[in-house]
Amino acid sequence: MNAQVIDGKAFAAEVRGKVAEKVAALKAEHGIVPGLAVVLVGEDPASQVYVRSKGKQTVEVGMQSFEHKLDAATSEADLLALIDRLNNDPAVNGILVQLPLPGHLNEDLVINSIAPEKDVDGFHISNVGLLATGQKAMVPCTPLGCLMLLRDHFGSLSGKSAVVIGRSNIVGKPMAQLLLRDSCTVTIAHSRTKDIEDVVRRADIVVAAVGRAEMVTGDWLKPGAVVIDVGINRLEPTEPGGKGKLVGDVDYASAAEVAGAITPVPGGVGPMTIACLLANTLTATCRVNGLDEPEGLTA
Ligand code: NDP
Repeated sequence: MNAQVIDGKAFAAEVRGKVAEKVAALKAEHGIVPGLAVVLVGEDPASQVYVRSKGKQTVEVGMQSFEHKLDAATSEADLLALIDRLNNDPAVNGILVQLPLPGHLNEDLVINSIAPEKDVDGFHISNVGLLATGQKAMVPCTPLGCLMLLRDHFGSLSGKSAVVIGRSNIVGKPMAQLLLRDSCTVTIAHSRTKDIEDVVRRADIVVAAVGRAEMVTGDWLKPGAVVIDVGINRLEPTEPGGKGKLVGDVDYASAAEVAGAITPVPGGVGPMTIACLLANTLTATCRVNGLDEPEGLTA
């Protein structure tokens, strides 16, 4: 293996450390305690794990955590009424509605009912527009985490050629916007891209956000490319009753032979997502109070 391993777990711990320091200073100097409200509708097991983990880490950095667990049958009107209360609660600086929502709830409507300045997931249409036009936005957490890892690795990203594989609203598109904002030459590849291997082989930076286990192999990469693997895929268990192995969208073993640096799965992008959620909550708190934004924790 030649590639440097980009340790997202360690970097995320550093980010949380910086957030905790700034939260302590906010408390000491201004009497402000940032608050993050997480709303979970229904009992999706994966979502429950995420929400628990978010709540725990929120408290660990010194913020207030407000958890709202609602029945799967909750009506849209009741959910919107809760969001309205949170929008108007001064103790709440960030609101996150855990996705996916049960089918009877309109996700776009729900997300767009969150006050944009409290939309710490960065999914509100206003934040999407602000990011696209290069204005101050709340930036989606996973792409922000990838950007932090890349900035840390390269210093400046200016002039690098980047390929983002995947064009979802939560990862691919905002990732491409962020890379463009940092003056990369950006290509977005997707399921209809022709000769995708050749497209990927031109890139100095490859961000894979596809949801297909180990799709990107070493022979797709330009030697020395930096690979950020967003994918989280569970393989079929190899023994009955076992838990399948977690892998990314990149075939780590072959990619690491060619890449200059690569994020592992698990332990790469995954831990950065919650760390960036906390960073965004801090940023939202600073903005609403007219204070300087935390350095190195925003796009
Ligand atoms: P989506 O399913 O919303 O989007 C996947 C994208 O990949 C689509 O744009 C699709 O193209 C593209 N795609 C699918 N098949 C191919 C193919 N064969 N070749 C090229 N492109 C293809 O997924 P998400 O963006 O939500 O998530 C992507 C991955 O990242 C998943 O594994 C997910 O679990 C993971 N993830 C990880 C997070 C973390 O914290 N680490 C957070 C969020 C997601 P098209 O648009 O043409 O259909």
